[in-house]
Amino acid sequence: MSPDIETVRRYKREIYGEYGGYYYVPMAEAFTVQVPVTVSCSYKKCLYCDLNQGMAFRELSLEEIAENVRKLRYIHYKPAKRFLLAGGNPFFLPTEKLLRISEAIHESFPECEYISSFARADDVTRKTPAELHALHEAGYDRLCLGLESGCDSVLAYHRKGVTSAQNLQAVHMLTDSGMSYSAYIMLGLGGRDMSEAHVEGTAEMLNHSSPFELTVVTLVLFKGAELAERVRAHEFHRLPPVDALKEGRKLLSLLEIHTVWNATHKTNIFPVKGRIPEHKELLLRRIDDALSEIDSQGLKQYELKRWRKWGTE
Ligand code: SF4
Repeated sequence: MSPDIETVRRYKREIYGEYGGYYYVPMAEAFTVQVPVTVSCSYKKCLYCDLNQGMAFRELSLEEIAENVRKLRYIHYKPAKRFLLAGGNPFFLPTEKLLRISEAIHESFPECEYISSFARADDVTRKTPAELHALHEAGYDRLCLGLESGCDSVLAYHRKGVTSAQNLQAVHMLTDSGMSYSAYIMLGLGGRDMSEAHVEGTAEMLNHSSPFELTVVTLVLFKGAELAERVRAHEFHRLPPVDALKEGRKLLSLLEIHTVWNATHKTNIFPVKGRIPEHKELLLRRIDDALSEIDSQGLKQYELKRWRKWGTE
C-alpha cells in the first residue's frame, strides 16, 4: 500500500528539518536513502568550507535515529538497498554507535546492501583495524573521503587537520578492512602559488590509493568561509577557472590507477566523466578541445554557449 502523501511530507520535514532544507550528499551516493545521524561537522576548521552554515555540531541520539529510520521505512515502502548516513562527517561517531545504527537500518530495511557515509581521514585512522572490519561486516561500505589534496603545504594552509600520509593511512586501512571508498579532490585548492605542488602531491597520493570513484570539484569561495577574507587580503591568490581546468588535465594525465574520473560537479567549468585508464586519452582530448574553444572565444562566451546547449538538451 502506498503511503499517505501528507504523512510523507510531514515525516520529511521532521526528519530533515534540522538541516535547514540543505545538506550535502556525496555525488557518488546521490541515490541513497539518507539517514540523519549528525548535524554539521565535528571538525569545522577547514579554511575554504562553509558547508555547515554556522550550525553547531550535534549527534542525534540512538532513539532519534531509530525514529527517523522508522519514518523512512514508511516513506520508502518499496525495497531500498543503498543508505547514506547524513551529516558533515558521521563516520566520526564511535564504532559502537555506528554498529547500533546499522542494526536499526537492517532491522527496518532487511534488503539494505550497504551504508555509506562522509568521512575525514582521521575519522578512519582513529578506529582500529578490528573496528573497521566489524563496521564493514555490519554493512558499511562505499565511504566518501574528503581527501582534497595530497600536498602537505596545501592541506596545512587550509587547516585540513591531516597530512597526505594520514590520508594514505586512511585509504589503506579501509582497503585492508574490505571497505571501498570514493574520494573528493579539489582543483584550485593550492591557488596560484601552490598549484604545481598541489597537482603533483595529489597525483602521488592517488597513485597509491584505489578509490572506486574520484569526485573532482573546483574550489568555490563561500561568502562565510575564512578563505574569503584571505582572498580579500590578497594573501591567497585564486586560480582562474581555466587554470583549474588545466590543473585537472594535468592531474588526470598523471594518474595510473583504475577508477572513475567524475568531474561533472557543477563547480567545474567543463563537466567530464569516464573510466580510467580505459577512457583517459578520450577525456584528455575532450578537455583539450574545451580549452581551445575557451581560448578562441573567451570563457564568458564559452560558458554562455554551454548553458544554452544544456538548456536545449
Ligand atoms: S570541509 Fe569537511 S571536514 Fe572540513 S570543515 Fe567542511 S565539512 Fe568539516
